[in-house]
Amino acid sequence: MSDCKTPSMSCPSCSSSMIVSHLLGKHQYVDKFEYSYLECLKCDLVFVFPIPSSEILVEIYTPSNYANTYVYNRNESKDCDPLDLDSSVDNRVDNSNESFQTKKDKQALFKLLFKYKRENNYQNLLDFGCGNGNFSIFARKCGYQVTAYEPLPQDVNLLSKKTLSGSDNIEILTGEIGVLLESGRKFDIIFLADVLEHLPYPIETLCKLRHLLSSKGVFMILSPLESSTNIGTIFLKLYKNIKKISKASTIANNPPYHLFLFNKRSLIRLINNASLQMINYTPYSIDWPFTVRQNDGSIKALAMKIIGKTNIVIGESILGRLLNLQNRAIVIAKWIKE
Ligand SMILES: [Zn+2]
Repeated sequence: MSDCKTPSMSCPSCSSSMIVSHLLGKHQYVDKFEYSYLECLKCDLVFVFPIPSSEILVEIYTPSNYANTYVYNRNESKDCDPLDLDSSVDNRVDNSNESFQTKKDKQALFKLLFKYKRENNYQNLLDFGCGNGNFSIFARKCGYQVTAYEPLPQDVNLLSKKTLSGSDNIEILTGEIGVLLESGRKFDIIFLADVLEHLPYPIETLCKLRHLLSSKGVFMILSPLESSTNIGTIFLKLYKNIKKISKASTIANNPPYHLFLFNKRSLIRLINNASLQMINYTPYSIDWPFTVRQNDGSIKALAMKIIGKTNIVIGESILGRLLNLQNRAIVIAKWIKE
């Protein structure tokens, strides 16, 4: 990871200085790091300011702080066939990483992986930031030669255990990104699932990775659209305003996991700013972040379920599609060389 850059109040994507405070406001990570969410009025990007140092980022991504909760998560013994699109969402969620939250993720990816394999005879795929490797296994089963990359060796250990115990033939790489760049490898698809929003310098990373694309290669980027307008964000706005009025503590205490919050516009602009051109945009809605993992029958669980489901119904409606109310998207983009 790069070292912390000199703080600057310009937008990290479009360099505009038209920056305002975002509703999410100030946060802190224990007593180590204070940060704010800012919003660019020109490209809509919401971003953490300042960007945390590499030391802070390494700390918040240690398994005890992040991976055990969000990546390794849940019950390994309940593994299910990744190509079984009709198995219950609950089973899949119990054993998923962030990139396989729902059936919707799988359906959208399944279609795209097959479309590009059939139309362009794509052969190999790099799963950049593979986490626990669920997508790597999924892509392997879709007929791709897969290279799974994760900078943290402890995450890769889990993937090794999984793949070595099965029949999946997946190459696993770990270490600094330079290892990958110096390998001289070329890939037909470079896949980033729930990765872009975690990178301190996403444009710089995309610019490095584009050299790994084959002549016909593309990026496949799956990202949450957390700053798009939807029931979830409206609910969040109401909650924040009530908190403000009630004068409750305005500094939330949590780690800066998502350094960027995208909507359709800011995501596409950022991709364009890495000299990439979007060739396909597949939006859809899921119930995250209102996914109920353990339904204990409480009012909170019921409220979350209702908000999550309403979010999906509205996002997937004709009006929702027209107004870009979906909260997740897959973007396919290719490198436009000058
Ligand atoms: Zn901007």
